[in-house]
Amino acid sequence: MSDRLTPNSLLAKLDTQPRVRDFLARAVTSGRASHAYLFLGSPGSGKLDAAWALAQALLCGEDGVSGACASCDDCGRVARRTHPDVHYFAPDSATGYLIAQTRELLEDVALAPIRAKAKVYIVDRAEQLRANTANALLKTLEEPPAGVTFILLGSSADVMLPTIVSRCQCVPFRPLSLEDATTAVEHATGLPAGKCRMAVAVAGSPARAVEFLKSGDRQAARRAMVRAVDLLAHADEADILAAAKDLMGAIKAPLAEVKSTQQAVLEQNQDYLSRGALKQLEDRNKRELNARERSGIMEALASVRSLLRDALVRLASESEPVVNEDVSDVVERIAARATVTGVTRALDAVSSAEARIARNVTPQLAIEVMLFDIRKALQCP
Ligand SMILES: [Zn+2]
Repeated sequence: MSDRLTPNSLLAKLDTQPRVRDFLARAVTSGRASHAYLFLGSPGSGKLDAAWALAQALLCGEDGVSGACASCDDCGRVARRTHPDVHYFAPDSATGYLIAQTRELLEDVALAPIRAKAKVYIVDRAEQLRANTANALLKTLEEPPAGVTFILLGSSADVMLPTIVSRCQCVPFRPLSLEDATTAVEHATGLPAGKCRMAVAVAGSPARAVEFLKSGDRQAARRAMVRAVDLLAHADEADILAAAKDLMGAIKAPLAEVKSTQQAVLEQNQDYLSRGALKQLEDRNKRELNARERSGIMEALASVRSLLRDALVRLASESEPVVNEDVSDVVERIAARATVTGVTRALDAVSSAEARIARNVTPQLAIEVMLFDIRKALQCP
């Protein structure tokens, strides 16, 4: 793995949220962690990173370490997102969580941990737990079996079911500015500010930006996206279809490593896990791959959005700095041939692609449509 673990990664990862960091570190070291947390904050505030960091601290196999030791087997597996006792859930449908998902979660909660002393359930976008799916969960959320911790993530308590909010310990995350986030990534990587700023714009949160900067595959996917947009001015229909296909290949490339790690874990556990537990591990792997693919696609779309925003910046002023410094020639080319209206419409095309993917349109089709729409928008007078 290219992921080098830093000592006490709970503290390191929450550099930008010092109050949250101190609060969670106190809870873990005193052994008084709650059984259900609700992390609240806007996108990019680092809730998901914090959830994984807390999972690591709770599962760390080293006794007497405050937070996580970051070097034991359990810590390593959590860092690689392959620990069989940390379960990540995200809504399976455009309308939210499915009843089948809640049922699967509840069945799993009842089982003993596979390898650690405890189990953690991360429930992303918990505002999408609607009454019909959430009710079955309430009792378990209030009184989970010993050793089980829920970490729910949501944008704001106002949009969540009050019955869920009241059963969780709420942890507010402050919104992060692009500059705060960039500084955090600079500290973590030692790379120049320009590169760090671009990584935050593409990856969304500081911790994800650090991972992005370590992953050659993810950076290649972003470059492929930038290239596809750059070539649109001279692209015909066949070029666009080929570009969308290549892009999907680039977006899926980082999954190969995840798949081989998953396969290795399955093989290690084959002999001593029951058929039911193996099936659950396979389901969990599938979810993990889906989540990774989805975040890869969102990252590719964020790359286009950031590039188009830079083109708007360039159209407004010759001297204003852009985020995508490394491909400023592409920004210049887009700005030279497009209008403000055109670039604004192109940005709408990116939002439409996100909406289509959320409604379960195949990503490749959504990207094809987006590229056609961007080409049209950038040509408009
Ligand atoms: Zn550890």
